[in-house]
Amino acid sequence: MQHNSATTTDVLIVGAGPVGLSLALALRHYDLRIRIVDRAPATKHEARAAIVWPRCAEIFDDLGCIDSFKDAAYALESTDVYANGERLGQLDVGHVASAHPHPLVIEQHVTERLLADALARRGVQVEFSTELSAIQVFEDRAEAILRRGDGMNELVTSAWLIGCDGARSQVRQQLGIPFEGKRRANLQVVQINAIPSWHYADAPSHGYFFLAANASLGCFSRPGGGYRFFCFTTDPDPSRTAAPTVDEMRELIAAVAYAPELTLTPTDPPWTNRARFQDRIAATLRRGRAFVVGDAAHVWAPIGGHGMNTGIRGAHNLAWKLAAVHRGEARPLLLDTYSDEQRASAQAVIDEMRFNILERPNGPLLLPLLRTLMPVGLASASIRRQIEWTLSDLAMHYRQSKLAWHYGGRQRLRAGDRVPDVAVFAEHTFVSLHRLLSMQQWTLLVSIDDRDESAVERTRAIAAAYRANIRVIGVRPQDHEAQQALGHPDSIILVRPDRHIGLLTRRDDLATLERYLDTFLIRAA
Ligand SMILES: Cc1cc2nc3c(=O)[nH]c(=O)nc-3n(C[C@H](O)[C@H](O)[C@H](O)COP(=O)(O)OP(=O)(O)OC[C@H]3O[C@@H](n4cnc5c(N)ncnc54)[C@H](O)[C@@H]3O)c2cc1C
Repeated sequence: MQHNSATTTDVLIVGAGPVGLSLALALRHYDLRIRIVDRAPATKHEARAAIVWPRCAEIFDDLGCIDSFKDAAYALESTDVYANGERLGQLDVGHVASAHPHPLVIEQHVTERLLADALARRGVQVEFSTELSAIQVFEDRAEAILRRGDGMNELVTSAWLIGCDGARSQVRQQLGIPFEGKRRANLQVVQINAIPSWHYADAPSHGYFFLAANASLGCFSRPGGGYRFFCFTTDPDPSRTAAPTVDEMRELIAAVAYAPELTLTPTDPPWTNRARFQDRIAATLRRGRAFVVGDAAHVWAPIGGHGMNTGIRGAHNLAWKLAAVHRGEARPLLLDTYSDEQRASAQAVIDEMRFNILERPNGPLLLPLLRTLMPVGLASASIRRQIEWTLSDLAMHYRQSKLAWHYGGRQRLRAGDRVPDVAVFAEHTFVSLHRLLSMQQWTLLVSIDDRDESAVERTRAIAAAYRANIRVIGVRPQDHEAQQALGHPDSIILVRPDRHIGLLTRRDDLATLERYLDTFLIRAA
């Protein structure tokens, strides 16, 4: 490889979008030396992804930056649903069992700026105007040529190389990984940030969905002023690629929202966008010491707004595994589970999109049916909670993963699930379970009763034999609800650093616990 200078680092991240930045921040929490480069001159100015779902907010909490997001975002509380001008009901949110139950409305350029600021506080500046041009991956290292803004080429040798370089990823292409899937036909989204004058009430915590034949319109107050309007429609003229004009958006919104009086004033700076989509997942997300994460790994139509959120969940999934293998605490096979788990997660998002009747455009025959069924559904608290649970991403699980060992019998909670955040008694106090967890450790929850804590001591003796930090805690559910959520009262639950359950088995099944730990982790000398 031709170059003018050479450097080494633990991890080279290519691409400083929301996913690369989240990954960089997570890896800094594990004290890895990282470099993060982007060919753009600065963080994006594009509004794009406008929502952070509760699971992603939990990740920002792990990364130590959730407060800045809460300060900058609107917390969503409810959304009214209309069809052909008739109000069908309301979807209220903010009820999921999480420290961050509300979806946060915040635009992508602000998300990127907050993450870049948090990263700078951890001592890493994004190297902008720096483009990856070539890579080679060896058994013990990766090499990359970077073309810097000053015109010089630099050879970077790193233990790991990660492509967070978006849908057209150079890293993915140079690794020869097929991007499997296809173009999504007959669907487009047109968007505008604008201040409306119309008859609908205006509250920062409140949004609207308007359904009409072949068009679904979402409207949410944006912290910068005005509303984000996004309208999924069928695509009668795919050759039309120009961003929509304000007049085109006004006409469309007025028609779908039944608001003929509407006037629209574009925000400053203005933003309009027309996009079409592909549903694709990379055939593998790992080639030896190189990985792809975020849009480099998977893309789809933003129905439901899960593209960025899923990418950030992938970054979180990879970070702890990479750090554990790099530090010699875990076996390299742990890294393959990132690819398997994240690919399954991406497929689940694509599958769920088919059922998103609020956002995907519905045909004229389906609409009358929705007008009949939706008021009934939205009037039911249990259906509203189910919709919210799915949207929040807290339901996303890794049950099929090699890392998920379930010996807990037939019960609702399974290995692979995110462990529920319920009230428990632990270490002499009542506490919400997630306060016991940390990205820096595995957490072994051992059910205790008042009489016998010896199971905790026996488990602790096993956990102490490994290099990884495994914190063993005796817990007792605080109430019936917590007991129901945690399942069998006589179990051990091994929680991974990303809050998902690795192993769920009976409290006396310490042989399985040891087998699990020996499969993935490395014993101390
Ligand atoms: C119109 C639209 C609306 C969307 N709405 C939503 C939504 O509501 N919710 C949601 O969750 N998602 C949404 N998405 C998707 C979301 O924007 C993406 O999923 C998200 O940007 C992915 O982040 P990323 O960091 O993986 O990639 P990107 O944000 O694409 O970042 C990749 C970075 O890599 C850099 N790069 C590329 N090649 C190189 C190279 N060779 N060398 C150096 N740097 C390089 C680029 O400059 C870029 O900064 C939307 C997308 C679009 C287009």
